[in-house]
Amino acid sequence: MLRIAARELSREEILSHKTGELIEHMRETMRHVPGVGLAAPQVGISLPLAVIEDREEYHNKLTAEQRRDRQRQPVPFHVVINPRILSSDSMNLEFFEGCLSVAGYAAIVPRARAVTVEYLNEFAETKRVHAVGWYARIFQHEIDHLSGILYVDRMKVGSFTTVENLERMWKDVPVPEVEARLKLRGRS
Ligand code: ZN
Repeated sequence: MLRIAARELSREEILSHKTGELIEHMRETMRHVPGVGLAAPQVGISLPLAVIEDREEYHNKLTAEQRRDRQRQPVPFHVVINPRILSSDSMNLEFFEGCLSVAGYAAIVPRARAVTVEYLNEFAETKRVHAVGWYARIFQHEIDHLSGILYVDRMKVGSFTTVENLERMWKDVPVPEVEARLKLRGRS
């Protein structure tokens, strides 16, 4: 299921009781984990629907400097359906990233610093968002899920690590230094 590209959802389907129930289920699952995003294929449903929420309390473990580097701001809960990335910033940022569907691991993933995304919300209304920093990363990660793409397809292979090892070795080391120590500069 994680490798299947989801077909589009019609307006009628978006407004259906069934989709409403799916959104509730996904919201609860994402908060329970907790995670900052969840895509329908991750709960076994091949639909182009994701939920996103980055709560301030999730930032407690980060230093002020890490929050600034990641350009991480709280994002209220919202639903993203049939998303399209209209434009991406040519500048990439590199940070460790994980996924609920590849639990227990993380890797450095280059992502565009900013993206403009058009999507429908749960009321089938068109929305356009310019997301920057960590929010842009979440969007790119979740939209990838809807096309059957996982972060391991985009990661710097030599940086793949267990979360346990990440916490022990690299948590407070700036990414450029991690890459230098792992001799990852210039490698994909
Ligand atoms: Zn994921």
